[in-house]
Amino acid sequence: MFTRAALRTCPRCGGRKSFIKYWLGRYDRCRSCGIQWHREHGFELGPIALNVVFTFFSLAVIMIVAFVTTGPDYNVAGLMALVIGAAIVLPLIFHPFTYTLWLAFDLAVHPPDERELAEADAAIAAARGTVTGGALASGE
Ligand SMILES: [Zn+2]
Repeated sequence: MFTRAALRTCPRCGGRKSFIKYWLGRYDRCRSCGIQWHREHGFELGPIALNVVFTFFSLAVIMIVAFVTTGPDYNVAGLMALVIGAAIVLPLIFHPFTYTLWLAFDLAVHPPDERELAEADAAIAAARGTVTGGALASGE
């Protein structure tokens, strides 16, 4: 699941038509298997925290490499511009991956129950226009 998530595909099914919409947006469900990414209240806090960790780790690596390679004559303005630029760009790059990775973690810790899987199947059937019945598909 984590390999699929690292490739920005759905961690559950591996479908390229996952819930990621372009780069910064999200569909409600994976368009391949129907799993809902927003599995519980406050789910977004996980990807945000993951993005902060990835960004801060990357900034630390950038600063260490910059200090080691440019010392002892530091170009403070250049280093500041590099780190500030990275602090703006890196969270945007990490954004979709943090959602797929956090969903992979959430699915590993808290596997979907039968109700969630039935909702996912019903959502895919409805999206394909092949609703054949069942409690969820008929709207009951
Ligand atoms: Zn999927």
